[in-house]
Amino acid sequence: MSETQCPCGRGDYASCCQPLHLGQAQAQSAEQLMRSRYSAFAKHEIDYIVKTTALGQQQALDVAAIAEWSKANHWLKLEVVQAQEKLDKHHAQVEFKAHYHDGKQAQVHHEISHFVKHEGAWYFLDPTTNMHITMKQPCICGSGKKFKQCCAQFL
Ligand code: ZN
Repeated sequence: MSETQCPCGRGDYASCCQPLHLGQAQAQSAEQLMRSRYSAFAKHEIDYIVKTTALGQQQALDVAAIAEWSKANHWLKLEVVQAQEKLDKHHAQVEFKAHYHDGKQAQVHHEISHFVKHEGAWYFLDPTTNMHITMKQPCICGSGKKFKQCCAQFL
C-alpha cells in the first residue's frame, strides 16, 4: 500500500477518509462511517474514533486503550462483507473483516457492527462500553426514545 492510498482501500486518503477525519465531510452511509473508523485506527485519529461513537457512550470509552490498540497493530486491509443500510429508519448493520498484523502474526477481526443515525450523522454503537442505563431511560444515541425502543435492540 502506498503512502497516499486510503487505509480503507477506496482510493487516495486525501479524497477518501481524510476529509472525514478532518471534519470537512460527513459519512453519508453507515458503511462509509465504518470505513472511516477503520482508517482512523490505521492513521491513529483517536479523536475521530471517539467522536463517531454514539453520543451517550463517548464518556465511557477507554481512550488510552483505543490509542494503544491503534498504534500496537499494523493495519493491513479492510474487507466489507456486507452492509444493510436500513435495518430500520435510523439503524444500520455492517459486517466487515479488519486485517492487521499484531507484530507477531497476521490477524483478522471479523465483526458485525451496528450504527445509528442521529440528526443526519452516523454513529457507531459500541457493544463493549459499560453502560449504566436502564431500558426506560432515554437512548444513548440522543433520539429521545426509550433505550429499550431504540438502540438497545442492536447492542
Ligand atoms: Zn437510540
